Amino acid sequence: MPTENDHKRRAIFFDRDGVINTRIVGGYVRQWSELQLTPEIASVLREVKRRDFLAIIITNQRGVGLGLMSEADLESIHTNLQSLLLRESGAVFDDIFTATDIDDSNGRRKPAPAMLFEAAQKWNIDLRQSWMVGDSTSDIEAGKRAGTKTAFLITDNTEDIPEATAILKDLSELLPLI
Ligand SMILES: [Mg+2]
Repeated sequence: MPTENDHKRRAIFFDRDGVINTRIVGGYVRQWSELQLTPEIASVLREVKRRDFLAIIITNQRGVGLGLMSEADLESIHTNLQSLLLRESGAVFDDIFTATDIDDSNGRRKPAPAMLFEAAQKWNIDLRQSWMVGDSTSDIEAGKRAGTKTAFLITDNTEDIPEATAILKDLSELLPLI
């Protein structure tokens, strides 16, 4: 007898800054001209989509809450990001979840797992068969709390390496694991 699980999808959840685009240390990507793709994201996204995973961005964007940029600025950056990825990789992210709050009081910002649960509900995702990929301990924490597998990406800014399902020296190391 078919169960709800038969129709569940697998997803790769991507943190944005540091994974999809270069992180601006101590600051925010406030406009499109400041966004630079990381070297491997286009090929990794293409392959993730080819293997029939959902690809979903899960990002804290406190710059909006702090008034450094507007919701419209953020949306415009993401529209441009999707267009660029379509040109570079022939694929786009299926969805983008953002937490713009400045603090953790409403429980959506990572390390809270709230955005992962929202995505799972909306897209009927099996979290246990999914991965959260990020360059911060808060990404890994959010993944663990949501019940996903976790991949920590080491960057030039890495200080502490958390315990995760996998530690990646570059993003393409994810592909043999999924
Ligand atoms: Mg990050």
